Amino acid sequence: MSSWIAQAALCGWKFRLGLIFGVPGGGNRGSLAGFFVHQVLSRAGETIERVWHSGGTESSIVDQLAGELNPVQALVLPEWRKDLEDRYESVDFDAHRIVAEMRLRGIVEGLAQYMARREPPRKVLNELQIMDPHTHHEGRLDAIFEWDDRCATVDFKTYSDEAPRSHGYDHLQIVANGMLANYRYGRPGTDFTNNELVIIYTGGLYFPRPTQRMVERVTSARDYVLGCLQSSQSHEAQTLNRYACQFCEKQDACGFYRTIERLHRTGQLADADEELRRSTWRRRYAILDYRQISHKNKFTVALNQLRLLEQYKVLETGYSLGPSSPNANSMLLIRRGGSNAFLEGDAVRIIGLEPGRPIMGSINFNGSVEVVSQQGVEVGLTGRPVSDVCRLLNGLPIALMRTEVDLTKRELQALDYIQRRASPTVREIAEALLGEE
Ligand code: SF4
Repeated sequence: MSSWIAQAALCGWKFRLGLIFGVPGGGNRGSLAGFFVHQVLSRAGETIERVWHSGGTESSIVDQLAGELNPVQALVLPEWRKDLEDRYESVDFDAHRIVAEMRLRGIVEGLAQYMARREPPRKVLNELQIMDPHTHHEGRLDAIFEWDDRCATVDFKTYSDEAPRSHGYDHLQIVANGMLANYRYGRPGTDFTNNELVIIYTGGLYFPRPTQRMVERVTSARDYVLGCLQSSQSHEAQTLNRYACQFCEKQDACGFYRTIERLHRTGQLADADEELRRSTWRRRYAILDYRQISHKNKFTVALNQLRLLEQYKVLETGYSLGPSSPNANSMLLIRRGGSNAFLEGDAVRIIGLEPGRPIMGSINFNGSVEVVSQQGVEVGLTGRPVSDVCRLLNGLPIALMRTEVDLTKRELQALDYIQRRASPTVREIAEALLGEE
């Protein structure tokens, strides 16, 4: 993912702590608010497109956007509250809500600045997942604004109110995302012709440049990330920005694991800790291997002919949009005779087969099959309104692709808990279980 690449480009250790050791992310009030804002914006593509086309001044666009996003906020708030209450023992929800609503207002103001300066695009593609199978690079782009002859790759900086810094995390992330957008438009990843990068943050706009130096930092961090995720390869933390430690929320975990690894290398680790280290690493390797398998369908689809994919029931074409209620959580995809490939409960990706675009760079949405009938299939959507999905799929031939749910993050977090924070009793039980094949 582009966010891992950006993190690894600043500190390889920090990337490894999250993605290999399973150390959970921080979660201060600012970043929790960011989650709420992100959820609202991920449902707002249709609204942004419509308001942009209706025109107006910057301040009128702010008013209109803010007004139209009210119902979306009302929808997201209870989900967000439940998530916070599940994660934390005591939550001052009103305080969180105030920060989140101010952040959203700030992002809307930044967005309105951009909308007032540019003619409306042909399409606003929000939350677009793209995978380039040649570079093994995948990412979910906050948005692409698409005109006939150009595009803008857009990041909404929702996790804090600070302006993005040149050559910092946000700059690296958007260059990585811009490379995926280039792949979508059939250009080499490093060719940013007609691809404007823009970060929209609280009250402002930032236009980072994809300089050769930044592209090289991204590609070298990407190689590092891929090396780490292939469990058989050795990997030394290679890239450390000297400012990164100052702001790092993972200092404790970093110190803990660095000490363990140093003591292990010098033969000074106590026997019990050495045994636990050995068994947790063995389990981590197994999880990473499973993780690779869970992504195999995407490569299979990207690199093979539709006919072959249909034959092996990895993907099925011939779907079109059926009648759906805009407020429903699921949508009907019509296919004469129903599905030959999918059963109820299957995790799927809905792909709009756009002419001239690679299949893994085309419009897509995740969901699960709820009903299979002679008419077609009904698919439950994950986090996207039916009306937004219909807007983007309208007029396109549709395919369904089989996907796997990647649950490895949770498993890695459990290992981190056992090794770093569990009580001696829990540790003892876990060690016995980890020892079992
Ligand atoms: S404390 Fe410094 S070295 Fe450790 S993970 Fe954070 S940024 Fe990297």
